[in-house]
Amino acid sequence: MTKARKATLDVLKRAKQPLSATEVHKIIKLKCDVVTVYRNLNYLEEIGEATSFVYSCSETGTQRYYTDKHSHFFHCEKCHSFINLGSCKLDPILKEYRNDFNLIINNHTLNLSGICPACSKKG
Ligand SMILES: [Zn+2]
Ligand SMILES: [Zn+2]
Ligand SMILES: [Zn+2]
Repeated sequence: MTKARKATLDVLKRAKQPLSATEVHKIIKLKCDVVTVYRNLNYLEEIGEATSFVYSCSETGTQRYYTDKHSHFFHCEKCHSFINLGSCKLDPILKEYRNDFNLIINNHTLNLSGICPACSKKG
């Protein structure tokens, strides 16, 4: 893996939130343009070191977000931050779909949105 790819993966591993390519580009300490960051993120996804999902909200528009491993997120409609909900708990549900519809499921997304604890405290 090249230095730039490793650095990109490092940024994803340290992040507590999913990051867009632009955000990765802001955080990464190497000198490279955003196109390179995009390319490296795609590569990491191809080899299974990263995963991404598309999310749209009124504030940030539609963006692709990257994380180092599959997990689910809660998006706050007020402060537009993401909360990582930890590892996937959908296996039992997927198993049911698999059996009921005879499917081979390779991908799924689940994004929750609402008001985060910090914002609900503020009222
Ligand atoms: Zn919030
Ligand atoms: Zn938002
Ligand atoms: Zn999942």
